[in-house]
Amino acid sequence: MTYGIVSDVHGNLTALEAVLERLKGVDKLVCPGDVVGYGPDPAECISRLRGLNAVIVLGNHDAAVCGKLDLSWFNPFACEAVQWTREQLSENDIKWLSTVPLVCHLDDFVVVHSSLAQPETFPYISTASDARMCFEKMEGQRICLVGHSHVAAVFIQQEGQYHVDCIPMPQGGKVLLESNYRFIINCGSVGQPRDGNPDAACVLIDTDAMSAEIIRVPYDVSDVQRRMRKAHLPGMLIQRLTYGM
Ligand code: ZN
Repeated sequence: MTYGIVSDVHGNLTALEAVLERLKGVDKLVCPGDVVGYGPDPAECISRLRGLNAVIVLGNHDAAVCGKLDLSWFNPFACEAVQWTREQLSENDIKWLSTVPLVCHLDDFVVVHSSLAQPETFPYISTASDARMCFEKMEGQRICLVGHSHVAAVFIQQEGQYHVDCIPMPQGGKVLLESNYRFIINCGSVGQPRDGNPDAACVLIDTDAMSAEIIRVPYDVSDVQRRMRKAHLPGMLIQRLTYGM
């Protein structure tokens, strides 16, 4: 079985289409949250992912847009984008967002936007100790897919051991999901990467080969920036797409 993972799309349809083209033919699409927020095409991204029957969990921006998370958690730029996004969505879209679950257990892995340690408060997994708190909640499952930090990386822990390895993967790369080890895969961000690589990030998981490949896909950044300017979204959010920061 093959899975295409598209996290933190953030309303960037151009980046989403680029990764979907790269992931064409996978058996199942999975989105570890933040379909909307920041980008100029929130309604289009929701409709595209729903149309493809993707498994979706709730991100903090999704939660803020549908009124499940207080805006005091956000910086002024993110806040402005959340409010703008709300105005672009239909009542139906908002209602649908409010039904998206925080955690989803599939046969081969568990999916959450932030961490299994308190998913409702959206903590980041940045360090080995953050990862350890998530590993502790994985129970029977060996693989956890997350997003949230917009930094593609893999955290690995040998079964029964305390030590956690953190492997940043800003240029992409492949990891073998060997038995005897547990993995937290941060899938990076499709629509607003922050790991110094402006290319859209996505992940291809093959459960026959037991491999996970983090893939970077270039897309027309300036086209998205043009739509963001037209929508009067904050300049800082527009510029950062150039640098992937
Ligand atoms: Zn995000």
